[in-house]
This record gives sequence, structure tokens and C-alpha cells, in this order.
Amino acid sequence: MKPFEKRVWLATPTMHGEELTYITKAYETNWMSTVGENINEVERITCEKVGCKYAVALSAGTAALHLCVKLAGVKPGDKVFCSDMTFSATVNPVVYEGGIPVFIDTERETWNMDPVALEKAFELYPEVKVVMMAHLYGTPGKIDEIRSVCEKHRAVLIEDAAESLGATYKGAQTGTFGTCRAISFNGNKIITGSSGGMLLTDDLEAANKARKWSTQSRENAPWYQHEELGYNYRMSNVIAGVVRGQYPYLEEHIAKKKAIYMRYKEGFKDLPVTMNPYDEVNSEPNFWLSCLLIDREAMCPQIRGEQKALFISQPGKSCPTEILETLAAYNAEGRPIWKPMHMQPIYRMHGFVTREGNGRANTNAYIAGEGMDVGVDIFERGLCLPSDIKMTAAEQDIVIDIVHRCFE
Ligand SMILES: *Cc1c(COP(=O)(O)O)cnc(C)c1O
Repeated sequence: MKPFEKRVWLATPTMHGEELTYITKAYETNWMSTVGENINEVERITCEKVGCKYAVALSAGTAALHLCVKLAGVKPGDKVFCSDMTFSATVNPVVYEGGIPVFIDTERETWNMDPVALEKAFELYPEVKVVMMAHLYGTPGKIDEIRSVCEKHRAVLIEDAAESLGATYKGAQTGTFGTCRAISFNGNKIITGSSGGMLLTDDLEAANKARKWSTQSRENAPWYQHEELGYNYRMSNVIAGVVRGQYPYLEEHIAKKKAIYMRYKEGFKDLPVTMNPYDEVNSEPNFWLSCLLIDREAMCPQIRGEQKALFISQPGKSCPTEILETLAAYNAEGRPIWKPMHMQPIYRMHGFVTREGNGRANTNAYIAGEGMDVGVDIFERGLCLPSDIKMTAAEQDIVIDIVHRCFE
């Protein structure tokens, strides 16, 4: 088998032409700044699509999360319960405000924050007032359970819906459940502006604050008058043009991502693997990334250090390192699962709570594959597959074939 001539990607931008119309219009009318029709329109469209009252267009999803953390009133030294198996951008904004992330282990049914571990965390840290949860890979988490734990402990829920735009839970879109929520238009997301993000809220006062903070916190005075710290976080009207051109294709992108997921699921049914799971009764993911989880019994030995990985190939078995290296050799891009935050050098001294209580990755147990927390286990056995919607069915069949060969 020859490598792919054209690289098969994990997830890249997919443009449709309309983006160019809106960018060009911004150029021709000289609205080449952080004000303009594209911005107003994408805020309006977002509110309409997601079903929220206010949307504030920002330079990035990370900026939106930062302003959510500020709105939640996180002060230096405050602990915040955070999703553990996620992209670091979920967590870093807590630290921007001097907050201290305490990580909550993952559940196996949706790969998101475990509400049982969250309840446990409130026993251990009853003073905590803010929870930051992400919907990983476009799969809604256990929202009802998480919300009821938050309500019971009077905690504010911040929802990181950066990866899950368009996904629904019990008929409502992700990005409507937290007190404050963030979406992202980063280049690899389900739709993109090349960059950009939004803060979503139903609270007019919160929306106005976010808008003001994002534009350097100018007071209503004839000169530059400042009473609060400001940020340069507003979305550009050019970026907004790209987002505006992408929005009509959100559903199409989701349908294509779902078809990719289902094709993998079918293609791997005879292998000792499962796909990233979701609540098939209550949720409809956006299927942003298709992921694999290898059965424990079918794992060949694999060791990961801080920067490098080694494995021993065995017949009938494989591991994420082998599959990722093999895909790369065929010019296809996969990726490891987000390495849990409690395993990251920058965060590993922070609190970490599993269903059993205070936990910490135990190196010996990690190697033996026993007594692990859920995040470590999924990180060890899981990987993200090429999920680009421009991948053809024929290309995907080859990817499926490559994975089969790893188990031979
Ligand atoms: C992409 C992403 C973000 C950050 O969004 P940007 O727009 O890239 O700043 C935050 N959280 C998660 C889970 C993400 O995947």
C-alpha cells in the first residue's frame, strides 16, 4: 500500500466561497476593524442558532472563557473545579485570573466531567463556587447531573462549548446550559473564522460587561477614561465575515462528520475497539472528531514519557502509538487523546478528584494498567482518527484498512 499522495488531515478548515463575499464586502466598504456588519450579523446568527439571548464576538474561544471566568467572579486563590481530560484552553483562563484549577475525573459514557466525582469534590472542597466543564470532541456531557450538583452547591457553571457547536442535549444546544458559555471558531473546529470565538449569555448586564472589557474598558466619556482593566479581545469584522459565510454550512459539516464517525464504527466492528461514546438517548453530538478506544486486552505494551513514546508490536494487539505512527507513515494525521490536565507538568501538583476522592496518577499503576483514573486510562488506550470532512469515503476506507493492519 502506498502512502496518501495528498495528506489526510485530522480536521482542517472547509471553505465554501461565501466567506470571500463577506470578507470582500468588509474590504470594499472599509469596515476593516473590530466594528461592522459582519460582527453584528454573526452575533445575531449565533443567538438564533444556539438559542441564547446575547452573543459577544471575540478574538478567540480562549478570550471568551477568560471573560466567563471574570464574570463568575473568580479571584486570586479561588479554587475552580475543571474538566480534566480537555484542551488546556479550558483551564488556562482560570489561572489568568489567579484561580486554582482542581481537576475532576472523566466518566466513561461521554468522556466528559464525571458528576459523581464532581459531587465528591464538593465534599472535599466545599468552598468552591465555580465549575468549568467542556464538551469533548463535540459530545455533550452529563449536563443534567452536572447542573444539579452545581445547583445543590450554589456554584456557577461555565460551559466550554468550543468543540461542540451545533451539538444538542435533550433538544437544546450546548452553549445554553452554563451561566456563561464559550464557543470557538478556531481553524480546526466544526466551522471556523480562521480564528475567533464568542461569549454566550442570557444576562444583558453580563453581555455588556464582556463587550466593554473586550474593547479596553472605555468609559462613556469624551476621552479615554478607564475605571476597570481592559482587554483587546474583540473579533475583527474580517474574521466575522468568514464565520458569517460558514454558518449556513454548520448542519452540512455536522452531517459529514457524523457519516465519518458511522463509517469508522462500521469499519471497526470486528476489531477489539470502541468509538468515543455518547448518550444516544439524550444527545446528538456534532461528531467533531472520531476517536478510538482499544480494549485493554488488545493493548500491546506502550510506555509514554514526557516527550516520547515506545511500544512493542504484538500480533493481534496494538496501541495508540503504533496506530498514530502507522497513520503518519501513510501520510494521514491522527492525534492522541487530550492528555489529562492532572498529568501535565504545569498542573500536576493541583488537586485532582476521582469518584473515590482525592486521586493522583500513580506511575506504577499506570504501567500495570490497574487502579487508574478514567482520564489516564482513556489517554493511554485512545486516539483521534483523521476526521476531516474533505476526506473521501475511499480515503477513509484506506485509513480503516491501516488500522486493521496494526492489529495483525
Ligand atoms: C479550541 C478550544 C478552545 C479554545 O478556543 P480558541 O478559539 O482556539 O481560543 C477551548 N476549549 C476547548 C475544549 C477547545 O477545543
